[in-house]
Amino acid sequence: MDPQRSPLLEVKGNIELKRPRIKAPSRLPLSGSRLKRRPDQMEDGLEPEKKRTRGLGATTKITTSHTRVPSLTTVPQTQGQTTAQKVSKKIGPRCSTAIATGLKNQKPVPAVPVQKLGTSAVPPMAGGKKPSKRPAWDLKGQLCDLNAELKCCRERTQTLDQENQQLQDQLRDAQQQAKALGTERRTLEGHLAKVQAQAEQGQQELKNLRACVLELEERLSTQEGLVQELQKQQVELQEERRGLMSQLEEKERRLQTSEAALSSSRAEVASLWQETAAQSALLAEREERLHGLEMERRRLHNQLQELKGNIRVFCRVRPVLPGEPTPPPGLLLFPSGPGGPSDPPTRLSLSRSDERRATLSGAPAPATRHDFSFDRVFPPGSGQDEVFEEIAMLVQSALDGYPVCIFAYGQTGSGKTFTMEGGPGGDPQLEGLIPRALRHLFSVAQELSGQGWSYSFVASYVEIYNETVRDLLATGTRKGQGGECEIRRAGPGSEELTVTNARYVPVSCEKEVEALLHLARQNRAVARTAQNERSSRSHSVFQLQISGQHSSRGLQCGASLSLVDLAGSERLDPGLALGPGERERLRETQAINSSLSTLGLVIMALSNKESHVPYRNSKLTYLLQNSLGGSAKMLMFVNISPLEENISESLNSLRFASKVNQCVIGTAQANRK
Ligand code: ADP
Ligand code: MG
Repeated sequence: MDPQRSPLLEVKGNIELKRPRIKAPSRLPLSGSRLKRRPDQMEDGLEPEKKRTRGLGATTKITTSHTRVPSLTTVPQTQGQTTAQKVSKKIGPRCSTAIATGLKNQKPVPAVPVQKLGTSAVPPMAGGKKPSKRPAWDLKGQLCDLNAELKCCRERTQTLDQENQQLQDQLRDAQQQAKALGTERRTLEGHLAKVQAQAEQGQQELKNLRACVLELEERLSTQEGLVQELQKQQVELQEERRGLMSQLEEKERRLQTSEAALSSSRAEVASLWQETAAQSALLAEREERLHGLEMERRRLHNQLQELKGNIRVFCRVRPVLPGEPTPPPGLLLFPSGPGGPSDPPTRLSLSRSDERRATLSGAPAPATRHDFSFDRVFPPGSGQDEVFEEIAMLVQSALDGYPVCIFAYGQTGSGKTFTMEGGPGGDPQLEGLIPRALRHLFSVAQELSGQGWSYSFVASYVEIYNETVRDLLATGTRKGQGGECEIRRAGPGSEELTVTNARYVPVSCEKEVEALLHLARQNRAVARTAQNERSSRSHSVFQLQISGQHSSRGLQCGASLSLVDLAGSERLDPGLALGPGERERLRETQAINSSLSTLGLVIMALSNKESHVPYRNSKLTYLLQNSLGGSAKMLMFVNISPLEENISESLNSLRFASKVNQCVIGTAQANRK
């Protein structure tokens, strides 16, 4: 202490020093009294101080600070803890812990003895004894007391500064903690937002999962249904399996039995194989022999045909038709052959009374008898089958590779068409040579197929009228039009002839042949309406190209079978007056006669082995040239009318046929390749 200074100045200085100390407690946020007391309580608490201050004047301020210090320093431990707990509830556990720690660390401020300035003018005595009041004159003593008091005050100031410092530190700590807590709060808010977003997402997922669950439940129920169905099926299948197992066992048993039988059969088969091999060898040998025999049959057959003559003439007399006059008896006679009545007739006698001779003599002249002999004569009662039987062998020659040509010659109405095609009405008994011959060929070809021969047949049917050729198998727009056809060689240097614009139809059964004959009849009928009875004045030529082959032996044969229904052979009476119709008729007849006489001449030339055979003189002979002469076999039917009125024409026909019958055409050669 500065001894120079007056004690009053000392007091003043003390007062100035103490100012901040008065304020300090109000800045303490954690003062026990401030936390604990309510405002009214605080007011009450301050009340005595105020009273005292009023009473004491300026100096009492120091006393006030004294009275408040203990309230700061003497906060009970439990009270501090309770406050800390309350705060912790508001600001959270972490923060409250920090505060509690701060309170714990707060050092209790040493208690300063309260001393009223007005009452203690005497300095404190050594040994703690309170000094007695100094007399007024004892200025030196009073000064001492004041100095002591000043010292005491200074110490207290120092203590309070320290306390203030501590509290500021605590405040800083608390602020830092608050800052940290704010940061932490923001972080937590961020977390919270994230968690909320996750929760929303979770909700959505949950919703989706519920939908999934529903769907899965539905599927589950469907699957359960299916499972039940499958279980049912499984049960059924197991049943079936058991059945099959038993069947299998049964079959296995049978298999074993069969295997045993098989092994014995194998042995048997082996022996049979040996036997078969032996039989095969035998069969081959027999086939060889059979083939030899077939060839021999063909040779002998041909020889027989040759012996019968390569040109044969059959005479057929048709019966008297209903409504026709009965011919006089003895007009046509059929004397029996050398072998008696059992022999097939070959002779025919025609008796004709010559009226001119009868007139000359004045008495009826005896009838002139004309005897004819042919290869065969068919009297009126002969059936179609009987006629065909005679020619079946000849037809077969066509299969053996010899050209065969069968003509029907005679006057109109003598039965040529009946002989060739058959009678009206489709009666099988009345079937003519064409359908019968083809049926025979098909059946023989079928038999020969067993010996390795295979045959094919192609049919054509044309008409030659007034030296023009017309297709009778024409169909569609050409049907009945009589579109002209030409006879040409099949190729340069080829012997084979073909008719242009004509149909060549492959046939393999009777039905097809029937259809062709029907078509030909239709085509002729159309022509007949256009030109009167043209069919009787035209030649109808049915030709069948036959080709056979024996592939394993490399043999081939080919020939044609021609069945010709010739035009009526009647002649015109030269004495008749010729009108325009007759002139046309005469022209037709001349054409017919010319072609028929050409046929006769060709046959003669062939018979006489003349160097020139006039095939080209008529379309008919030109078309048939390959079926006449050489290796060809020819048969001529001379059809005769039984009527007396036709006797002259019958005689002409028989004379023509006799001439043909006298012809012998060289030895036939089969067309073998
Ligand atoms: P052509 O063809 O020679 O002119 P057809 O064959 O047309 O003669 O015969 C004239 C008629 O005589 C036809 O009604 C026919 O049915 C009949 N006819 C011909 N021959 C016989 C026969 N052998 N048996 C029964 N009727 C026949
Ligand atoms: Mg006819």
